[in-house]
Amino acid sequence: VCAFEPGAVVSDACATYSTLENLNSILQPYVQSITQNTDFFSYYRVNLYNKKCPFWSEENEMCGNIACAVNTLDNEEDIPLVWRASELGKLEGPKATHPGRREQGARESDRPLQGELGESVEETCVLESDDECDERDYCIPEDERASSKGDYVSLVDNPERFTGYAGVGAQQVWETIYGENCFTKEPAEVGISEESSTWEGSLFQAQAARDLRSVLHEQGVQQQVQNAIAKGKATSQLDGLEFEDSCIEKRVFYRVVSGMHTSITAHICADYLNQTTGQWGPNLECYLARLHDYPERLSNMYFNYALLLRATSKLRNHVTNYKYCSADPEQDRLTKRLVLSLADAIPSGHEIFDETVMFQSPDAVGLKEDFRNRFRNISRIMDCVGCDKCRLWGKLQTAGYGTALKVLFEFDENDPSKDPPLRRTELVALVNTLGRVSRSLHAVQQFRHMLEERVGRP
Ligand code: FAD
Repeated sequence: VCAFEPGAVVSDACATYSTLENLNSILQPYVQSITQNTDFFSYYRVNLYNKKCPFWSEENEMCGNIACAVNTLDNEEDIPLVWRASELGKLEGPKATHPGRREQGARESDRPLQGELGESVEETCVLESDDECDERDYCIPEDERASSKGDYVSLVDNPERFTGYAGVGAQQVWETIYGENCFTKEPAEVGISEESSTWEGSLFQAQAARDLRSVLHEQGVQQQVQNAIAKGKATSQLDGLEFEDSCIEKRVFYRVVSGMHTSITAHICADYLNQTTGQWGPNLECYLARLHDYPERLSNMYFNYALLLRATSKLRNHVTNYKYCSADPEQDRLTKRLVLSLADAIPSGHEIFDETVMFQSPDAVGLKEDFRNRFRNISRIMDCVGCDKCRLWGKLQTAGYGTALKVLFEFDENDPSKDPPLRRTELVALVNTLGRVSRSLHAVQQFRHMLEERVGRP
């Protein structure tokens, strides 16, 4: 039924799959409550419309747009309008534009955020005071390179789920993310493993090779990968496949991206629209086709969960006196209590994830810079996602992982006074990304149960 090994340690993390699932059952209610019930964490400021895709021309960009994706659905014209990809991908619910700095003489009531985040929201609490890019950031701040400050979007009203966005446009974005940003060696150095030291490795090596082939778009590299498969050389740890001398930093980079991809797919499968009945719900076939037989994809998602938990717990001291700034002191107290309870409930130290093993080699400074730049590139690619809702969650999750990496590698948990600034958008993105992966883990467990029921096993 399942190739899942609960007792196995998630490679490159320190916890087992079952430890992470057990922890998730404890933490999910906190994360759920924070992300669904507090104003601070349920609105996200994001620049969805004013940035151009920097990676391909206008003509190609069209293929990343809804119109292109819509064409990939079979019998799209037979689907009622409201269920079409273009409709499902639209943003919904209350959306407030950024208040901007108040002009002299402008009235309090001119500020559009009022009524959305509280009647007397202090402007300093809503506006970011530190919009400039900090060299220690792993993401492009949402407001850089754009004159507009973006919009506040309700995350609760725009759940991450099936939208029908697929086909050439979506594929091109994923290809660009993997192909342009993974750490590739010169073609001559690429090698594929015949054996693997990880529990999932040998079984899924062939699929991992197919995955890699599909994302490495440079012909020369593809040819080398094929040659290497044929020769069956080298050893492997990265989902049964890795470049011969891939160090942990490069593995982690790939795992973060792949784990994010897995989590997005898990949401699509868990909240799927049956276009025949019009019912939303879990789609077991979707899970089976896209995740169940790919333990390396699942493994990367569990890895991400461990990484996000460690980052959240490392923030404990940093957020002890954090000002949440909704207009409602009672809600602020509740938000603070929930966030601290969440951080306290996560095992402290390196029990779950040990970031201190990274960036220790002599070339650590250059490697870290490279790592950071590549991750910033991923945040730029998100402007090429041609579906509003997908772009919203893609941007949020990239920012969430960028924040986690920043906290892991640039923060001192014992002396927060030296920490780089943490923007509101970063904190919101981190906690909501944790919420996404937490929900995905839960969904995967449910799919496993559904499958067990189907085959009649306890
Ligand atoms: P894709 O998921 O597009 O994958 C492309 C290829 O990548 C696969 O063929 C495989 O070789 C490889 N691959 C797949 N998963 C992994 C993994 N975990 N690790 C490594 N390699 C992998 N659609 C929605 O319905 N709702 C959304 O909210 C949504 N959000 C999106 C956000 C972003 C940033 C992007 C780029 C796309 C989003 N999509 C969303 C589209 C969705 O991700 C898929 O592209 C679409 O469903 C088509 O899926 P597919 O089966 O063709 O494979």
